[in-house]
Amino acid sequence: MKGKINKFVESNRIEIITLLQKLIQIPSTTGNEGEIIQFLENEMKAIGFDEVNVDQMGNLIGRIGNGSRILAIDGHVDTVEIGKQEYWKFDPLKGIEQNENIHGRGACDQKGGIASALMAVKILKKIGIPDLLTIYFVASVHEEPYEGANWQFILENSEMHPNAVLLTEPSNLSISIGQRGRIDIKIKVKGLSSHGAEPDIGINAIFKMNPIIAELEEFHKNMPIDPIFGKGSLTITEIKSTSVSLNAVADSCTIHIDRRLGSEETLDKVIDEIRNLKSVIDAEAEVFVPEYEVKSYKNHSYGIIGFYPGWIMDKSHGLVLSAKSAFEYQFGKQPQIGTWRFSTNGVATKGRNDIPTIGFGPGEEKLAHTYEEHVPIEHLLKASEFYIAFMLEYAK
Ligand SMILES: [Zn+2]
Repeated sequence: MKGKINKFVESNRIEIITLLQKLIQIPSTTGNEGEIIQFLENEMKAIGFDEVNVDQMGNLIGRIGNGSRILAIDGHVDTVEIGKQEYWKFDPLKGIEQNENIHGRGACDQKGGIASALMAVKILKKIGIPDLLTIYFVASVHEEPYEGANWQFILENSEMHPNAVLLTEPSNLSISIGQRGRIDIKIKVKGLSSHGAEPDIGINAIFKMNPIIAELEEFHKNMPIDPIFGKGSLTITEIKSTSVSLNAVADSCTIHIDRRLGSEETLDKVIDEIRNLKSVIDAEAEVFVPEYEVKSYKNHSYGIIGFYPGWIMDKSHGLVLSAKSAFEYQFGKQPQIGTWRFSTNGVATKGRNDIPTIGFGPGEEKLAHTYEEHVPIEHLLKASEFYIAFMLEYAK
């Protein structure tokens, strides 16, 4: 069978490349996914999915097969912005092929994974979908700013109850069994307005924030090394202040913190740590986790809190073992097993809902969101092979 899978994928080489190029050529920044969802809906119908639906938020969900083992394959269709066109060596919206790589925005994060996985389902349909298997293919939206909000919505509102989830984010063809969590934290201090010519009558909120910023910088440097996810991190990504005019003392100052979590860290623990910093107590600062309104391209609103729990699968879990055997069977060697540094839809599937989840995808994580974004063609083909072998193994 492995020779057959390899031959099938090789003979679809051009089709896989073309599919990825078409996906790159449809711009799909977060909130603008309508056209690419429509395109993929047509592709799924052409492949012969049994059922294809777009939910209220705008996620595309296709089903094929009707067995008792329910596997969901996820790929998010949204990308970050292109940025400055002149920084790109290749047009980011063309999907240009050079030196066995496909270049462009989304090539690795993560239209490559979608192209490989969709072709894998198409090929498996030709080989024969195993009786025991149901595959849900989810093209999810709005992942980049609020990963997992899409899947939280899907799990609360759809008929689908998967036994396992396969994420197709870039993993450099290794099996990913977890990721760090993250929390958005805001710290707000209050000041007192006075005329800019009489600053001593007022209390400047920006000056008041100063010691907090300094203590946070030290706090980051001294964060412990987590046995699974490496060094924890904290960084300030935004600072905002208010004042009644540009010649008045700032009466409030708010910073936004991106805090990445260790495997044992909880929301409460992390918030308490910040609240107990000496500078935060001295300034009587307010520490809170912001809530967001996710407004999708379909104008659908969904509320979430800025907490994205990390997750980790036990290496001896059946799903991890299935992925391992599929890889060994198909490629005749041991896979690399690791975790992601970035955050994925796994925060909802495994982190919040405890559905066994793994990841495998073409391309390198470190190229995501860069001006050099590309994916090796070899990876696209290998990922397709792996997905087919894995679906067969999972249905055994
Ligand atoms: Zn991604």
